[in-house]
Amino acid sequence: MTERAFDGLIIDLDGVVYTGALPIEGAAEGISSAREDGLKILFMTNNAAKKPADVVAHLESVGVAATPDEVLTSSQVAAAYVVSELGDDIEQGRVLAVGGPGVSYALNEVGVSPMLPSQIASDGPSQPFVAVVQGYGPELRVTDLHEAGLAVNAGALWVATNTDATLPTPRGMVPGNGALVAAVAHGTGATPVVVGKPQPFAYEMALKRLGLPAERVLAIGDRLDTDIDGAIAANVPAALVLTGSTRPRTRRPGLLKTSPP
Ligand SMILES: [Mg+2]
Repeated sequence: MTERAFDGLIIDLDGVVYTGALPIEGAAEGISSAREDGLKILFMTNNAAKKPADVVAHLESVGVAATPDEVLTSSQVAAAYVVSELGDDIEQGRVLAVGGPGVSYALNEVGVSPMLPSQIASDGPSQPFVAVVQGYGPELRVTDLHEAGLAVNAGALWVATNTDATLPTPRGMVPGNGALVAAVAHGTGATPVVVGKPQPFAYEMALKRLGLPAERVLAIGDRLDTDIDGAIAANVPAALVLTGSTRPRTRRPGLLKTSPP
């Protein structure tokens, strides 16, 4: 038996395992063969919109078996960051969750009971927010961004799950969370703390989940500016696939200026 090069994989989802509802050819086979070889698997996605259980259902629909504890979303990374900054006894309703259900789910998971923009009274919250977590949500409304902006202007810690400029869909790229975060940044003059890939905080959490040292893990992704840059910064070996955002002639897009956590 040959000694294997890695003991675990950090696998990105969109553009690596699937594109929307469509499976990427060979991904399911590759993942199941890695499992047979005894590798630990962690699916790490910058897409904050979904809960881990919904990500598992999505994976199953493209032929990949997984458990919720094998999924790490950028919402979970953001929730952990909020707790690391503000402590775990944050009063109920003092954190604003902007984005899909994955954002509020992740906060609840760490014991922070968030408020949604739709729950804010027309004359504003009774107490100022201590933090805003902003992630992607396909149902997000412009008024949700208003609430994010008001909270940021009032001094709340502003945490963006990620700043991916685009999101791959079967019909092509659409504006991603980075575009929506940029709207709030433009409208407030503030700069968010970004915690998802490529920030080291996300990779530290991933390695902790896997229980493996960086050099024994291979990160697989389709974006240079998130998956690959982040892995390199965290000393995790990385493999780029050309089934998603990156084409052989891709140039790096300009990045939103952000401060690291
Ligand atoms: Mg991707």
